[in-house]
Amino acid sequence: MASRFYIETLGCPKNEVDSEKLVGTLLAQGLSATEDESQADVVVVNTCAFIEEARKESIDTILALSERRKKGAQLVVTGCMAERYGDELRANLPEADQIAGFGVAIETGVQPAANEVATTAVTLGRKPSLGVTAQPVPSFDLLNLPRPASRTPWAYVKIAEGCDRNCGFCAIPSFRGPQRSRDVASILREVDELQAKEIVLVAQDLASYGKDRPDELGAGSIVDLVRQVSATVPRTRLLYLYPSDLSDALIDAILASGVPYFDLSLQHVSKPHLRRMRRWGDGERFLKRIADIRSREADATFRSNFIVGYPGETEDDHDQLLSFVREASLDWCGFFEYSPEEGTYAVALPDQVPAGLMHERIAELRELQDTITAAKRDELIDATVEVLVDEPGVARSHREAPQIDGIIRVPTSLATGSFATVRITDAQGPDLVAEGADVGEGSLQGADHAG
Ligand code: SF4
Repeated sequence: MASRFYIETLGCPKNEVDSEKLVGTLLAQGLSATEDESQADVVVVNTCAFIEEARKESIDTILALSERRKKGAQLVVTGCMAERYGDELRANLPEADQIAGFGVAIETGVQPAANEVATTAVTLGRKPSLGVTAQPVPSFDLLNLPRPASRTPWAYVKIAEGCDRNCGFCAIPSFRGPQRSRDVASILREVDELQAKEIVLVAQDLASYGKDRPDELGAGSIVDLVRQVSATVPRTRLLYLYPSDLSDALIDAILASGVPYFDLSLQHVSKPHLRRMRRWGDGERFLKRIADIRSREADATFRSNFIVGYPGETEDDHDQLLSFVREASLDWCGFFEYSPEEGTYAVALPDQVPAGLMHERIAELRELQDTITAAKRDELIDATVEVLVDEPGVARSHREAPQIDGIIRVPTSLATGSFATVRITDAQGPDLVAEGADVGEGSLQGADHAG
């Protein structure tokens, strides 16, 4: 029997894509996948190093899987933690047989072919054009590796790796390197191979796609990419848009993509505070842009993330954020406590916000947003919406991004992977309940869209 591997993925959607690329490569090397870690010959943990909490979860997972693996199985730790803290992990984590950062080949040690897993460096022809972060490019990129067809009707597609920005709180550019955008052809090939109905485009800084390759792709190439992807799948969703790059052309492309959903990485709204964060914009500009989009598309849905307690955040900054949240009335918001990250600009800043105050501020913001989200979900009762069925009984309209937002509970008779028109009958916090819509003949409408 072929040797088996098990991969546990932690962290963000971008990490999930990396894991799927590893799956694709391991399968191509003749290994087979197992869902049972105790049966695997190779157990891979794809870690997250975003904040302290994520690092703790990564370590706990490594230790738990080490306990559960069968005798003789290899335990491989990869992902952001392996890249960022490789030496420390090697010294302090004897349970791991291998710590493989992005630039390191995974050695499965179970058959010769499998050792070739990550030995092919992918060259993306990066030009040293922006280089704001001046970070080295990891010697190995997973970006263009093959991937199996999606097991769900939706799939993430990573269109670039790394980031050329310099946000004060963020360590990502220091270990993911500068931005490297993929070729359009390779992205379209992956979209085709995934056979998904909804493609979720991800990158550290999605709207900057192509800026690192001005001659071949160029600034604004995200617009062409969104148009090309949405010409081949019923739904194209974009995550992580830096607000300064949300051009009119990009808004038009998003509105035409079948998913009028805007995930804006705002992080804060107070202008002096955003400058301390080394970021663009202010609350007034953001509100204007949101109003402008709503005037073009009443059904447009908005999500954003905010960091609470970044050094120097005053009571006034916090009040501005509260007012913004109230006024903007976004559908979904994530609030994260600031976490000092080694090697970032913010670590050395004065006026660190005490933990107790940070907890109070975040609780206040979350309570406010929960009320807004619940009210917006209530407003949808009696509405008729088109959903994509993710699994029996669970579906999403354009308003819900997979794994991040709420869901819509639908009749289990609707086939997975089909689109259906349903009527919302109830709201339960972030989730909605729906029944089949009465469309002409009183039947539940379900259509299996091509794509
Ligand atoms: S927060 Fe996002 S845009 Fe800013 S440096 Fe980090 S990855 Fe780049």
